[in-house]
Amino acid sequence: MEKKEMLYEGKAKKVYTTEDPDVLIVSYKDDATAFNGLKKGTIVGKGAINNRMTNFIFKKLEEQGVPTHLVEELNDRETAVKKVEIVPLEVIMRNYSAGSFAKKMGMEEGVKFKCPTLEFSYKNDDLGDPFINSYYALALELATQEEIDDITKYAFKVNEVLQQYFDALNIDLIDFKIEFGRYHGKIILADEISPDTCRLWDKDTHEKLDKDRFRRDLGGVEDAYEEVFRRLGIQ
Ligand code: ADP
Ligand code: UDP
Repeated sequence: MEKKEMLYEGKAKKVYTTEDPDVLIVSYKDDATAFNGLKKGTIVGKGAINNRMTNFIFKKLEEQGVPTHLVEELNDRETAVKKVEIVPLEVIMRNYSAGSFAKKMGMEEGVKFKCPTLEFSYKNDDLGDPFINSYYALALELATQEEIDDITKYAFKVNEVLQQYFDALNIDLIDFKIEFGRYHGKIILADEISPDTCRLWDKDTHEKLDKDRFRRDLGGVEDAYEEVFRRLGIQ
């Protein structure tokens, strides 16, 4: 499979067309951004780790009944995916307080919730991805009720599978963001699941093994990504 034209260059990935109108190639970059692009940097090796980790996790999710955009890993940084129309919602699942939730609710980070929570942000960089609920999504025609129901069902399933998986690697899954797309009328999981999009804390030391090391200038950014990759045991 060959790349044709670059369709889009995002903050972390480039997206190319292919000869197949239903298939795109995503190419993962080492570029890192935070705070809606205000902070910029490079995390050496991140592109390959995020690409391979996403594909590994998406395969596990497929086995557990969550449909994904994965077609085929092409090389360390590039993967063929089903071309979807992205639903403009950032779907955020949380198991512990952290980040914007902790700030908004006036809580310390790391408090385990009685049950997982789901929230939506409107995926719109100009507006800074504002928090919305499903009524906003319906009113603004970002998704239909049926799509929101599917997205919600899959998001909880992804959380359950990932939580169990990371638990066995001595990692607490604090929270994560996922995106879904429309593919021939059906909702499927798209984009990525990586230390860029999850908060992952070592169970014993509570050390952060994710992008917060970059966002908060904690150092050891590359080591943290490599540590998660190592624990996953991806061949
Ligand atoms: P951003 O747009 O936030 O800077 P990225 O750098 O990760 O993000 O760019 C990847 C873009 O490709 C995102 O906008 C994402 O929604 C989109 N995308 C991810 N998977 C697919 C897919 N299967 N089909 C079409 N677009 C996708
Ligand atoms: N997240 C993401 N992309 C975004 C916003 C959030 O991948 O544009 C992830 C983030 O890495 C974390 C989770 O979603 O795992 C919840 O993020 P939060 O709302 O706490 O926002 P933040 O504190 O990152 O601003």
